[in-house]
Amino acid sequence: MKVASVLLPLPLPEAFDYGVPDDWELGIGDHVVVPLGPRRVRGLVQEIREVTGSNRRLREIEERLDVPSVPPSAMAFLDWAARWTLTPPGEMAFLATRGLSSPPPRAERRLRRVAGRDPARPTEARSRALATLGDDEAASMADLARAAGVSASVIKGLMDEGVLEVAEIQPALPFGVPDPEFSATQLSADQAAAARRLAGAIDGRTFAPVLLDGVTGSGKTEVYLEAVAHLLRQQPDAQVLILLPEIALTQALMRRIEARFGAPPAEWHSSVPPPVRRQVWEGVRSGEAHLVVGARSALFLPFRSLRMIVVDEEHDGSFKQEQGIVYHARDLAVARASQSQALVVLASATPSLETLTNAEQGRYDWVRLAARHGAAVLPDIDLIDLRATPPDRGRWLSPPLVEAMVETLAKGEQSLLFLNRRGYAPVVLCRACGERMTAPDSDSWLVEHRYTGRLVCHLTGFSMPKPSHCPACGAADSLVSIGPGVERIAEEAAERFPEARIEVFSSDTVPDAAAARDLVRRMTEGEIDILVATQAAAKGHNFPNLTLVGVVDADLGLKGGDLRAAERTFQLLIQAAGRAGRADRPGRALLQTWLPEHPVMQALKAMDRDAFTQAEGDGRRLMGLPPYGRLAALIVSSADAEALDRVCLDLARRIPTAERVEVYGPADAPLALVRGRRRKRFLVRADRDVDVQAYLRAWLAEFKVPASVRLRVDVDPYSFL
Ligand code: ADP
Repeated sequence: MKVASVLLPLPLPEAFDYGVPDDWELGIGDHVVVPLGPRRVRGLVQEIREVTGSNRRLREIEERLDVPSVPPSAMAFLDWAARWTLTPPGEMAFLATRGLSSPPPRAERRLRRVAGRDPARPTEARSRALATLGDDEAASMADLARAAGVSASVIKGLMDEGVLEVAEIQPALPFGVPDPEFSATQLSADQAAAARRLAGAIDGRTFAPVLLDGVTGSGKTEVYLEAVAHLLRQQPDAQVLILLPEIALTQALMRRIEARFGAPPAEWHSSVPPPVRRQVWEGVRSGEAHLVVGARSALFLPFRSLRMIVVDEEHDGSFKQEQGIVYHARDLAVARASQSQALVVLASATPSLETLTNAEQGRYDWVRLAARHGAAVLPDIDLIDLRATPPDRGRWLSPPLVEAMVETLAKGEQSLLFLNRRGYAPVVLCRACGERMTAPDSDSWLVEHRYTGRLVCHLTGFSMPKPSHCPACGAADSLVSIGPGVERIAEEAAERFPEARIEVFSSDTVPDAAAARDLVRRMTEGEIDILVATQAAAKGHNFPNLTLVGVVDADLGLKGGDLRAAERTFQLLIQAAGRAGRADRPGRALLQTWLPEHPVMQALKAMDRDAFTQAEGDGRRLMGLPPYGRLAALIVSSADAEALDRVCLDLARRIPTAERVEVYGPADAPLALVRGRRRKRFLVRADRDVDVQAYLRAWLAEFKVPASVRLRVDVDPYSFL
């Protein structure tokens, strides 16, 4: 008989076996419904094999669903990703079927003119109805009657005469066929050489990882789009995936791709409406969708001939998915390209230490773009020593920064004040008793938001109105706001420059892609003088009239105390500074710091990426940390403190001994209480050549997690909270 292993969307370590009814045609990647205890569960066929002489009584698959299967290459990738991230394979597999959760948009019945037919009796009412319709379509008879101001019988008469008809209009596909010759850019010599290297990798038709390394504005996008054109010329059925770290960046790239290839690419992220996602899923599955621009989950789309992946802004921490299934989209992109024998381009002005190390050691090809395109020059970066020129009491902008803003405004140019902190004030404190306001069930501090008048937990989303009395000691009007967020900086800017047009760009003021598009447009068109922004604006946008970037607190990221704090600060500030001065206007960036002699600040001032990388890399090598070693975390959490302790003790007892591996913990997580759950962490450090996944598997093999406790494995953690 035939037996199928079926992946179920449950935290099970492997697929379950089911019998295949005798006369069924079933393939790998097919969607099925199977019985599980008393339930019926949707599953995905992972494997089918012929079994002889088995007397096991297997339950049979109940139904095969009529939706396109997940192709074998995508199934293989899911399997690999599950093993790499230690995710239950069924849960991983269901990342790949999310696009199927909604039906595709349906064909619409619409009223339209029949070509070449005119009414025999053109009454005034009939002529008006036809003129109103023109070459368009109307949704119904009633619609057209209303629009033309005629009675329904007039429309009916036209239909009876065969002048109008009801047609089934198929929904348009949300993507088109790219034409590599549509509108090529004349590349500079440097860019053309880079594009040729990528083309060479494509022609090799093997796995080719490439770091495309060039400052913001050097033309990395132009170069990889040229490589896409080359690929499409050679292999018209090829598919390309371009991953971006932020949904807010997709629109600009979609427009550029449409201008370059004469057709919109497919778009994939959480804001795409479900019926469109279904169309994209099926288009990717059928091969009709050639170019996909998406967020990290696009990696799990069912590509049939994926030949090239671009990870734009590859250093960006947003590629690490922290909620639910934990994975790093950049790392999985490299793996997927490797399985598909495809090209993977990692593009960045400030590559991650991991990628730089891979390039230095020759594992990745390293393609560099030297200068900014055309006349554009990099901004001057200067440090403002806050010890020498501090802001006034209760203010955050130092005199030199204010002076620079005055000059910039006077020239009719734009300033960006960068502070990676949402809200008004990061801490709210009681002057009477010293109580810091926290959420009732979490350890994180509440952030004051003045626009909404609420205190918000940025971790869990909990919020409450700002109380008039301290909840701890009851003192009235004693709560004070400590430190600045973007809203407070905007307030100070408005006080200093009452005539200036000031806007805040953060995930609170720009909640979705449409709002982001609008704000970016207004900034681009010069409708804003001073933009106060979190990292939401530090990435990728081109503002031609922006000539001053003021970094309010350059030291902010250095205090995080995690492995990549300095690296992130460096990348973020270089990106932020890189916003200044495009095209023909030189820009400058001023960084307010209390630590001007810190190596990160010195490297920033000199724009010396190599010096920074060297210093940072030496430190990591010494400690055996990534990229010179491996890390993994176990995060154990429970509302039941005793159960949590028991589990941690049990886990600690089971730690396998192995060479070149150390396990630290269990320790209270820095955020020891979130949503009423206590949290503890183990951290595994291993040498680079250790198979950490195998080690973790051995550790957790026989371990049963009680229902009241959650255990999360994070291979290569980016967050240490
Ligand atoms: P990056 O991706 O490195 O930030 P882009 O490819 O976005 O750089 O290029 C920055 C700007 O310069 C874009 O507006 C782009 O259209 C323009 N540009 C780059 N190279 C050329 C070129 N060879 N010809 C015309 N415009 C170019």
